[in-house]
Amino acid sequence: MPIEVDIAIIGGGPGGYTAAVRAAQAGRSVVIIERDKLGGTCLHRGCIPSKSLLRSAEVYATIGEAAAYGVTIPEGKISVNWNTVLQRKNSIVDQLFRGLQALMKQHRIEVLNGNARIIGPSIFSPRSGAIAVELADGESETVVPKNVIIATGSRPRRLDGLAYDGVNIATSDEALDWPSRPSSILIIGGGVIGVEWASMLSDFGTEVTIIETADRLLPTEDKDMGAELAKALRKRGVKIITSASLQTAGCKVSDTGVQAEVITKGETLSLNAERMLVSVGRQGNVENLGLENTDVKSDKGFVLVNPITLQSGESHIYAIGDCIGGIQLAHAAMHEASVAIDHLLGRKISRTADRDIPRCIYSRPEAASIGWTEADAKAQGFPIRTAKLPFRILGKALVYGEVEGFAKVVADSASGDLLGVHLVGAHATELIAEASLAKLLDAVPWEVGRTIHPHPTLSEAMQEVMLALDGGASHG
Ligand code: FAD
Repeated sequence: MPIEVDIAIIGGGPGGYTAAVRAAQAGRSVVIIERDKLGGTCLHRGCIPSKSLLRSAEVYATIGEAAAYGVTIPEGKISVNWNTVLQRKNSIVDQLFRGLQALMKQHRIEVLNGNARIIGPSIFSPRSGAIAVELADGESETVVPKNVIIATGSRPRRLDGLAYDGVNIATSDEALDWPSRPSSILIIGGGVIGVEWASMLSDFGTEVTIIETADRLLPTEDKDMGAELAKALRKRGVKIITSASLQTAGCKVSDTGVQAEVITKGETLSLNAERMLVSVGRQGNVENLGLENTDVKSDKGFVLVNPITLQSGESHIYAIGDCIGGIQLAHAAMHEASVAIDHLLGRKISRTADRDIPRCIYSRPEAASIGWTEADAKAQGFPIRTAKLPFRILGKALVYGEVEGFAKVVADSASGDLLGVHLVGAHATELIAEASLAKLLDAVPWEVGRTIHPHPTLSEAMQEVMLALDGGASHG
C-alpha cells in the first residue's frame, strides 16, 4: 500500500527537517525521505563538525597565548590530541543527531531511510509527484503526497583531473575525518570553506598555503573583508597566492605528499605539501531525482524555482536550500523551508532577499556580512556613504585580546537606508544578527546607533559604526 501524506520532503537536512516541523505544527501529515542521515550536510559534514574543529583550534591557539594574560603553563608545553579533537566533534554531532530524531518523533514525522525518485503521472496519481523510494534495507516503498518539497542539498564541486583519494587529495567531506592533522596543506579555493580550514589548521600549527583564482580571498564579499582576513592569516604564517590557477595535470601524489603546479601572474610555481584540500564551491544534488518525469527544471546543477514562492515548474512541487543555489547556508535553507510551507498552506509569505541573509565565516577572527558590499552598492547606483571603525577602539576587544578586525557600514546617503554591514572580528557571527534585525525592521543606521548597547561589549562596534556615519561615534 502506498503511503498517502499531505507533504513529502526529499532530504532531511536543515531545509528538509525545518519544513517538516513547520508543516507538522500546522497539522499536516509529513514524510521525510533521507538517503543518508537526518541532519544533512550541516550536521554531519558542514556547520557543526567544522565549528567543533575550529573551536578546538581556537582553544589551542588561546592557550598558546596564555603568557600574555599572566597565565603560565609549567614547562610551557601544550599539545593536541587529534583523537580527542575528533571524538569531541563526533559526540556533538551524535548528540544533535539524537535530538533531531526525537524532534521528528515528537512531531509524528515519519522518516524513511532511502533514496527518493519522483515519478510521473501513474496509477498512484494523475499528476507527477508520487515518489518511489528505494529503502536502505533493500525494500521499496511508494509515497503519494499532495505536495513535494525537494531539499536534496549539495555536494563539494570537484576539479576534473585530480586523483581524489580522500586523504592526500580531499574535499571537506573527507577532511573532517582525517585520522591525523597534516603538517602542511595546499588549500585550493579561498572562499568561506577554504578560509575556515586555513584558519583552523594554522591555529593547530599546520603550514598552510591558500591558492585562489580571484585577486583576493572571499571574492564575493566586501573587499575590506578579504583584505583584513588575509592580513590576519598572513600574520599567523599562512601563505596566500591569489590570481592563481591550479594546473590539475601537474598535480602528483607520492609517498611524501602532493606536488602541485600553479600559474600566477605569468609565473609557474611548483608547490609541495603533505595534503591538498579542494574547496572550490558546491553543486546541487539534482541528478537521479526523476526530474525528467516532471516539469521541474534545473540549470547548471540547481533546481529552478520562483524566487518568491519557491515553487518549481510544477506548482505543487517546491524546492529549497542548497539545491536551488543562491546563498548556500543552513539558515537560508531553514528560512526557505518556512516560506515554502507558508505558501503551500496559503499563508502570507515574506521571502528575504538572498542579499539580506547574513553570511558568516567562522575563522579567527570571524567575519560576517549582510546586504550590499560597498562596490556592489556603487554599481547599483546608490549614492552611498560609509563608515568603518577598528575593533581595537572597543574596551572589551582589548580586554579579550581580540583586537583584529573592523565594523563597516554602507548606507544610502539620499534615503538614509542601511545598505550593508560588514564585520571582521571576534564574535562577528553573533553580532551580525543585530544588523539582520535592523534590516527586517527597516531601521536606519541612526536608530541602531541610538539603541542602548551594554558596555563594555563587542556589540558596541555596531552602535559606534552606525553613529560614525554622522560623525557621532563616541570612541572612533
Ligand atoms: P543538506 O544539508 O545538504 O541536506 C540534503 C539532504 O538530502 C542530505 O542529507 C542528502 O543525503 C539528502 N538527499 C539528497 N538526495 C536525496 C535523494 N534522492 N533521496 C533522499 N535523500 C536525498 N552553513 C551555515 O549556515 N553555517 C555554517 O557554519 C556552515 N558551515 C559549513 C561548513 C562546511 C564544511 C560545509 C560543506 C557547509 C557548511 N554550511 C554552513 C552550509 C550548510 O551545510 C548547507 O547550506 C546546508 O546543509 C543546506 O541544507 P539543505 O537542507 O539544503 O541540504
